[in-house]
Amino acid sequence: LPEQEAFDIEYWLLEEAKLQRMPKPKSLAGRVALVTGGAGGIGQAVARQLLQEGACVMLTDIDAEALEEAKGNLLKVAGKDNIATVQGNITSETEVEAVLTATALRFGGLDILVSNAGIASAAPLEDTTLEIWQRNQDILVTGYFLVGRGAFRLMKQQKIGGSMVFVASKNGLVASAGASAYCTAKAAEIHLARCIALEGAAIGVRVNVVNPDAVIRGSRIWDGKWKEERAASNKIDSDNIEEFYRQRSMLKLSVLPEDIAEAVYFMASDKSGKSTGNVLNVDAGNAAAFTR
Ligand code: NAD
Repeated sequence: LPEQEAFDIEYWLLEEAKLQRMPKPKSLAGRVALVTGGAGGIGQAVARQLLQEGACVMLTDIDAEALEEAKGNLLKVAGKDNIATVQGNITSETEVEAVLTATALRFGGLDILVSNAGIASAAPLEDTTLEIWQRNQDILVTGYFLVGRGAFRLMKQQKIGGSMVFVASKNGLVASAGASAYCTAKAAEIHLARCIALEGAAIGVRVNVVNPDAVIRGSRIWDGKWKEERAASNKIDSDNIEEFYRQRSMLKLSVLPEDIAEAVYFMASDKSGKSTGNVLNVDAGNAAAFTR
């Protein structure tokens, strides 16, 4: 290159490097998000990501003690003015309304709903009592309906649209042995998201679904009975459960709460502005093919 041109290139590279070092505007600055199941593994990872992207986050959960612990963890990445908590049971109409009102009063509105609270429950069909069936329906279907309807009403009132993300499950698409109540409820949850997306389109509200596969690390679901039951149903030792799911996946990777958070952030933000009624599986390929 002629000397003068070489100099110019260097100059522009330096200018580019300076630009790279400048703080970038945060993509969710000024947005308000409500995260249900915020005391759990996925809920906390989602909240962390939304806070890092500049959103104000209201965390809600049925478990008040775990909720405060989660808030303590998240204060390490966010200022106290950006995060608040409110206890609530998503199966109670009045409590859901109180959670939404608290969010609007605390942060001035609602732009993003992450409907994520949930349980996992397993039982072979013949041992599935009406009580087990009903509990899955109550939390995973009725709870998601109440929270989705409440967020819809609030977003409609605000007249500036919004984004909802339902955290469902790969098991809402693919049946899993010994978990008919859970799989059926998760399938309904996915379809409910599509129904809300259809009505939401007219008021600028997008609704999408993120489907995790087994997220063992960090999840409180996997602390309990579910782990033993899944291990028994797959005829493996419960200590090997994460390795079992990793080996079974197409990509031979374990899915982590942070992986779900990335997908939720994508669906919640303007990055997915032309997606609604969609389902994104974060499952290392597990829903697409049998690998063993
Ligand atoms: P988690 O148990 O760590 O978190 C779930 C949270 O939901 C808990 O803090 C719990 O207290 C809360 N919750 C339960 N019932 C509630 C109610 N009635 N009202 C309000 N809060 C309630 O589990 P996680 O792994 O973080 O799961 C989050 C979501 O992801 C759930 O919907 C779950 O079904 C789904 N999911 C998880 C996995 C996995 O392997 N971890 C796989 C697929 C789908």
